[in-house]
Amino acid sequence: MSDTPDQYGVVGHPVSHSWSPFIHGMFAKATTQNLAYRLFDITPEDFRREVLRLFATGVRGLNITLPHKQAAAELVNELTPRAERAQAVNTIAFFEDTALLGDNTDGLGLTADLERNLGITLTDKRVLILGAGGAVRGVLGPLLERELREVHIANRTPERARKLATEFADMGQVSGCGYADLRGPAYDLIINATSASLKGEMPQIPAGIVGEATVCYDMAYGRGHTPFTLWAKSLHAARATKGWGMLVEQAAESFLLWRGIRPDTQPVLQALARHA
Ligand code: NAP
Repeated sequence: MSDTPDQYGVVGHPVSHSWSPFIHGMFAKATTQNLAYRLFDITPEDFRREVLRLFATGVRGLNITLPHKQAAAELVNELTPRAERAQAVNTIAFFEDTALLGDNTDGLGLTADLERNLGITLTDKRVLILGAGGAVRGVLGPLLERELREVHIANRTPERARKLATEFADMGQVSGCGYADLRGPAYDLIINATSASLKGEMPQIPAGIVGEATVCYDMAYGRGHTPFTLWAKSLHAARATKGWGMLVEQAAESFLLWRGIRPDTQPVLQALARHA
């Protein structure tokens, strides 16, 4: 057996903020897997060529982050059913027999964090999702499988929200709109799935959609508060939380696809709570 570690990584633009190398490094150590995990900052123009080059040089698997998730779904040779439904890919695995397999573990990551880590019951809840990019595509199916009462998708570009709502209308009560169309009553759960937090911004949304029982979840993660979690706290939301748990849970599902083992996520969550 070779001592050379198997090569993995995450492709995004930007990607320097990613904690995935830390997380997969901890998973590899805990499960005694010999692998290396690196960051690859690749622009949309170079995405296809560079990703194919990485796999040609022996890379075994990649995570895909913003803004490439839809482009990744078009690049792979085969999609898992959940990635097919999402038309977005956050994990690519190279298998000798199927070449490049595209999967989407974002939905499992989010629902595991909401339900298992945060103890939230999703059934019958009114949910607002801000954003209509690759991440939303990945989480809509698994959220709608929980039999939510309704899901509103609001986006800066309203047509993208409406298109997504139409694509998922067979799974439940889903509608799409722009931020200016948002009204009360307060939602049970508001998920910020825009990339605004990465630029220190937040979507222009009205205060009346948050009540004292509303859980506000920012998929973005980083040290301290995001503009969205600060906004939620200022409105006395029941909870204002960031996407660390989703990040770790979706990573564990990617690791399972690549290595056949689902690592324990709790030690990594505890380490991130100490370091991040
Ligand atoms: P994406 O495909 O590039 O989509 C970006 C979305 O953000 C679009 O809906 C875009 O609206 C919106 N947006 C960008 N800047 C904005 C601003 N200043 N104000 C309002 N809306 C803005 O990105 P993605 O892959 O969906 O990722 C979205 C976010 O989720 C990122 O912060 C990412 O890090 C995070 N994420 C976290 C996890 C996790 O595990 N915690 C997993 C996946 C994603 P337009 O359509 O109008 O351009």
